[in-house]
Amino acid sequence: MTEPATTEPLSKADFDPTRVDPAQLTEIAKHIRAIIEILGLDTSDPNLARTDERVAEMYLEMFNGLRSGAEPRVTTFPNEEGYEHMIMERDIPFYSMCSHHFVPFYGHAHIAYVPGDKIIGLSKFSRILEFYAKRPQLQERMTEQVVDYLVDKLDAQGAMVVIEARHLCVEMRGVKKSGALTVTSAIRGLFHNRPLREEFLDLLRR
Ligand code: ZN
Repeated sequence: MTEPATTEPLSKADFDPTRVDPAQLTEIAKHIRAIIEILGLDTSDPNLARTDERVAEMYLEMFNGLRSGAEPRVTTFPNEEGYEHMIMERDIPFYSMCSHHFVPFYGHAHIAYVPGDKIIGLSKFSRILEFYAKRPQLQERMTEQVVDYLVDKLDAQGAMVVIEARHLCVEMRGVKKSGALTVTSAIRGLFHNRPLREEFLDLLRR
């Protein structure tokens, strides 16, 4: 039914530093350099010498999901055994960047679906999550995007996603509620039925 949890080789969806757009890199670096200068920092400080390029490279890596071709190719298998229960993967880690402040939010996603005619390997859950996480993002929107992906691309009979995350834009500024978790959830199809939702939450509590 499921693939063994192995480390997958580099796929087209992964960030490949040799394939960044040099024009994009140069342009972002130019603007980061401007910020460094506006802040009145000492540009002869060796620690700042290549910061503009490093930040540009880092942005392109963290926003890799925006790149054309970044969408993971998700191979499906026919649901030959007619499995019609929940398939769940919990505690999948992710790192993303908040659209409002361009600082990280990160945490774990718990993803489940009830298959229709197609199933996917469990390792694909993290690939789908990664695709949506690697861009300026909102936790609420990412939760919806992942659940929609499962229903739209897999014709799942139902899907449920819960994401728990820490937001550095909250923790590093203002009221500094360090360690607070923001929890979002989205449900589709069969998960509107309470027993299925409770089964999901029950599996989460274990
Ligand atoms: Zn923010």
